[in-house]
Amino acid sequence: MDTSAKLDVALRKDTVERKKQQGARCLGKQRDGHFALSVGVPNACFSAAQLRALADIVERYAKVGHLSTAQSMVLLGIEGQDYAQARRAVLEAGFQIRSVGRDVFHVKCCPGADYSPFGLQRTFALVAHLEETFRALPTPQKFKIALSGCPNCCANTRLAEFGIHAAMNGWKIFVGGKMGFAPTVARELAGPVAADQVPQYLAAVLRSYRALAEPNERLTRTVERIGFEVFKSAVEECLHLPYEDLAAEARQSRLALEQEEVIGLLDAGKSRNAASIPAPD
Ligand code: SF4
Repeated sequence: MDTSAKLDVALRKDTVERKKQQGARCLGKQRDGHFALSVGVPNACFSAAQLRALADIVERYAKVGHLSTAQSMVLLGIEGQDYAQARRAVLEAGFQIRSVGRDVFHVKCCPGADYSPFGLQRTFALVAHLEETFRALPTPQKFKIALSGCPNCCANTRLAEFGIHAAMNGWKIFVGGKMGFAPTVARELAGPVAADQVPQYLAAVLRSYRALAEPNERLTRTVERIGFEVFKSAVEECLHLPYEDLAAEARQSRLALEQEEVIGLLDAGKSRNAASIPAPD
């Protein structure tokens, strides 16, 4: 079995730079010149009708669908000229367009106490509220949220910037985790707190992160650089603030994400040195 691949250093560098620009948040550019679109599934739940609609979208615009580790369904192999139509079709089917840029990502979650025999709290209403309030809020770097219905943490709670898991009497909150080349396990910030307090904590963490981070710095690094206790004090200081301003900014940002004129489509079809992704049989 030959799994070798040639690293395209220039493409890698282009991709890192492009992701820093406005207008690149929903666009995934592939090695072969095609494009990828990350389809968001709110609460990670879908209806049969939605799945049928998505099957049509894959057939019409993409080479293949791929399940990401973040609970997105990624459409791979889209031609540049089909990109805007594919994005529209995804929204019309009741899915979200997910960001791959520098903002608050969707919430990765487990089914919680509605379905899991181990669940200590129900997850879906809290996930929906966090997404409706904060998703796509601009941040210095990507900001991931993971929510699990018990301490088993099936949603990888402690490997996200903001992680929450259920306890017998509320929710425990963790900050500063990440995956990647050098994973960091998030540290406990508070808990157990009532469900209504979770968005208050998320707002305070986001305010503190946006105020204290260096440009392009992930939360893990900010916490390491200034110290966990300093970060925790900053969060506690703004815990009482209302967060309508953040919610309004996030709403505007989501709208822009769904409508933005994506950059990087002009050189669509220009093949790089890698072979095209094969379509499945
Ligand atoms: S984290 Fe707990 S509640 Fe959620 S799926 Fe895993 S075992 Fe079930």
